[in-house]
Amino acid sequence: MREEEIEVAIKVVVVGNGAVGKSSMIQRYCKGIFTKDYKKTIGVDFLERQIEISGEEVRLMLWDTAGQEEFDAITKSYYRGAQACVLAFSTVDRASFDAVESWKKKVEDEVGNIPMVLVQNKIDLVDNALIDHEEADALAKKLKLRFYRTSVKEDLNVNDVFRYLSDRYLARI
Ligand code: GDP
Repeated sequence: MREEEIEVAIKVVVVGNGAVGKSSMIQRYCKGIFTKDYKKTIGVDFLERQIEISGEEVRLMLWDTAGQEEFDAITKSYYRGAQACVLAFSTVDRASFDAVESWKKKVEDEVGNIPMVLVQNKIDLVDNALIDHEEADALAKKLKLRFYRTSVKEDLNVNDVFRYLSDRYLARI
């Protein structure tokens, strides 16, 4: 008997304060591009990318908040059915780091306990870094989250973030 090809689709929400690089991360991962003045495309809810994990085709749908986070008014449809989450903050934005815990709570209030990962983006901006390793490690430990340090600009560790979430998700189903 021929083995059925099972396709798994995972809705991933990328949350965090404005300007931490969420849209850029989605663009980078799904389209392989980085543009400094990327304008958010109105009307596009998500971008997707298909990867293979242990012989299984996994389709990741990465949802972009389209700037709504600034108004604390992300619609329910954004979170609805989310199966994994990236909690992002920026190396050069202290407020974005301080807000991580409240983002985590917000997601959990909407969709419960789903695989999550903590991401410190813009690690290329070494000279302007405001969050050091120890501080970030301590937060990850406190929140019991796997932690990745990325540069979307330089394409550092971005793939690892989504592979990890996919692995975690597949381990659950
Ligand atoms: P969002 O509001 O969280 O979706 O953030 P954006 O994706 O719009 O990014 C905000 C700004 O940060 C843009 O100018 C991006 O080009 C820039 N940016 C995103 N990721 C990085 C990164 O890893 N390094 C640097 N230096 N800039 C980045």
